[in-house]
Amino acid sequence: MSYCPLRRQTLKCTVRTPPPSNGAISAGNVPRRDANIDVMSTSHPRISARVSAITESATLAVDAKAKALKEAGRPVIGFGAGEPDFPTPDYIVQAAQRACAEPRFHKYTPAAGLPGLRAAIAAKTARDSGYQVSPDQVLVTNGGKHAVYQAFATLLDPGDEVLLPAPYWTTYPEVIQLAGGTPVPVVTDERSGYLASVADLEAARTERTKVLVFVSPSNPTGAVYPPGLVAEIGRWAAGHGLWVVTDEIYEHLVYGDARFTSMPVAAPEVAERCVVLNGVAKTYAMTGWRVGWMAGPADVIKAAANLQSHATSNVCNVAQAAALAAVEGDLSAAARMREAFDRRRLTMTRMLNDIPGVICPEPQGAFYCYPSVKGVLGREIAGRRPGSTAELAGLILDEAEVAVVPGEAFGTPGYFRLSCALGDADLEEGITRLGKLLGQGQLH
Ligand code: PMP
Repeated sequence: MSYCPLRRQTLKCTVRTPPPSNGAISAGNVPRRDANIDVMSTSHPRISARVSAITESATLAVDAKAKALKEAGRPVIGFGAGEPDFPTPDYIVQAAQRACAEPRFHKYTPAAGLPGLRAAIAAKTARDSGYQVSPDQVLVTNGGKHAVYQAFATLLDPGDEVLLPAPYWTTYPEVIQLAGGTPVPVVTDERSGYLASVADLEAARTERTKVLVFVSPSNPTGAVYPPGLVAEIGRWAAGHGLWVVTDEIYEHLVYGDARFTSMPVAAPEVAERCVVLNGVAKTYAMTGWRVGWMAGPADVIKAAANLQSHATSNVCNVAQAAALAAVEGDLSAAARMREAFDRRRLTMTRMLNDIPGVICPEPQGAFYCYPSVKGVLGREIAGRRPGSTAELAGLILDEAEVAVVPGEAFGTPGYFRLSCALGDADLEEGITRLGKLLGQGQLH
């Protein structure tokens, strides 16, 4: 036992004697590596096991490849985008412009966010979903993705299992593993409209299960859980002492008879172990501004804020000013985008279902279609016989110049994700090209 200067307390830790030095260590006088040490013989891998296990985001990779081909002059139609194809509304941009001109927005904010923004997010949450939180139960993060990271880093210990309904958004398993947890996929398919039941979840639960991930409306499937099922799953989670990380980023993008339901409202018994994730990206077409948040029990939010204070400090002050204008404003811009996505998801679903071998349930929310293309796999197309959807997506990009994201990225090979966030004419042209190419397979 020794005194650990890092923790300022007595505990078991290694205290190394500093190398002889004539002064403080600074960038200019860092102790030099001994020239005789053969760095090639070190047994340490260059990249840590933790980070080398991360795979590149497949959705971003497909989008980047499609954009690069487009820039090279190819008439590529990209269905990979996970972002609205609309500009950020003017009143939000203007709020940012005003903030830019004000010196107080050039400074750090408290790590957990501008107090006014935390309060506005709490008010907006009560307005939109009925979930009541106080401002100190809100942490402003660098986008919704960062809220996902913070939530799992704060909740998980090594060995904890996380139930992850699949198809899942591609970031979830990576972040869970980075936090030392084990993702346990609970696979659903088109026959249930990609909805997991309590029985499905219960079958995957063990005594190591700590968290359930719940994303409704879902990326990638567009599935929206009906209110009764949200309540049932919430009560089940509470009954087993599980935490729920629920991602509400698509709350305003629901269609037809579907209704968005917030889990801690539908099942108040789970609220004390529930973390709600959200952000401005999808509702206000603000993907590039990088403002998201997590809301939940005050102790969890405080712990996550401590982590954030060392990782990123605060979110960009000017972007917080823009987010404040967004969440304090009305939802009319979101309603206009919703109308366009609604029209496009119906066109896309109809056109996809007309392609032999493709089965596409009608998405009830978000802005994606998630068809099964299992009926196309194994057919000869353009002289090739793709055996996986990853291969088939490559062939489609080569032959039809259409970019789709293969289901492998979402834990369910045999499917594609297609985003509706592109113009109507491009959408129809892209699916027509897809139909022509996949239709070729019919002849063999
Ligand atoms: N959750 C889900 C389900 C998403 O689809 C996304 C974006 N693709 C995010 C969170 C994160 O959004 P952002 O980081 O852009 O706020």
